[in-house]
Amino acid sequence: MLSDMLSYLLARETEMEQTLITLMQAESPSTDKSLVDQCGQVLQAEFTRLVGGSVTRISQTHTGDCYRCTYGEGDEQILIIGHFDTVWDQGALSIEKRDGILYGPGAFDMKGGLTVALYAIHALAANHVTGNRKVVFLATSDEEIGSHASRELIEAEAKKSVCVLVPESSIPPNGDIKTARKGIADFTITVKGIPSHAGHDPRAGANAIEELALQIADLRQLTDIDAGISVNVGLISGGTRVNVKAEHAQAGVDLRFMTKEQGEAVAHKIMNRTPYIAGTTITVTGGINRYPLERTAQGVDLFVQLQSIAHAHGYEVNEGLSGGGSDGNFTAALGIPTVDGLGPVGDGAHARNEHVVVANLPYRAALLADFLRTNIHR
Ligand SMILES: [Zn+2]
Repeated sequence: MLSDMLSYLLARETEMEQTLITLMQAESPSTDKSLVDQCGQVLQAEFTRLVGGSVTRISQTHTGDCYRCTYGEGDEQILIIGHFDTVWDQGALSIEKRDGILYGPGAFDMKGGLTVALYAIHALAANHVTGNRKVVFLATSDEEIGSHASRELIEAEAKKSVCVLVPESSIPPNGDIKTARKGIADFTITVKGIPSHAGHDPRAGANAIEELALQIADLRQLTDIDAGISVNVGLISGGTRVNVKAEHAQAGVDLRFMTKEQGEAVAHKIMNRTPYIAGTTITVTGGINRYPLERTAQGVDLFVQLQSIAHAHGYEVNEGLSGGGSDGNFTAALGIPTVDGLGPVGDGAHARNEHVVVANLPYRAALLADFLRTNIHR
């Protein structure tokens, strides 16, 4: 027999698709506050329509306002976090459905996941499922640009929670759930040299570009694929003329790592550079942005519960590691049991082929709903 939650939600696939399209139509590039605010209002209206509950709007100065949506009562809470900003500029892509797959900006990262969360809580409300813990759905607006404005809010809410569920994009192609995520650090390396004419006296001056090139060669040595550490120099600039020894050169560096200790050790090496070329100086700014979501027994316990619910719903779900970060990294780093990647089956986050499998929406919502149903009782 199908779970009540699953049969209830399977009957609402079209409705879920419509909610997802409505969220996608409210384009929300992180850096455009007024657009992100409009999307936030759509999300808030959907929560009120589908759940009722109570909604608090949390004003932000430069990024979109955030929303804290609550269902049920209780001293303890289960937290769901999701961001409604996207990496896509206004008018970036059209929304299109082909063979049961919905393509478009934000479908997978993570408006599909927001839709899943909305309908999971809706299924509880519509079926009068309550317990002695409340469900808090915290919707934020700046994840794609590092969550600088919402991080404090996320952490404060996580500290009050027994666990955190993150309906971020799942692992393609089968919708694996994320029990681990790598940590992320970013750095800017600035080299200052001494300009001089390249021809008059080749010994004079100090070329910042040459120094930076030597540093980059060093940075390559820090990558250790087997250990899960990768260093990428993704940006470079410098120099003024081909016949001038460069006074300035700069590089942008991205570091991914598996454990806090690794991250801190490699970040320390990146921060402390010694120049090879006399007359050059090196300044490094930046640091760790997100600590990893390390695979812990607590997180795996949440996954095992989800796995058995999926099994009861008639399918299998696996766990996996993501090389990308999310706001789940923040909550996990606080020691709060966190499970991530609960969004629908799909692919193409930040890519032109971004999409979700529409028929999977009710399954993911029912997975979350049955998890909540079990866990809102202490
Ligand atoms: Zn995301």
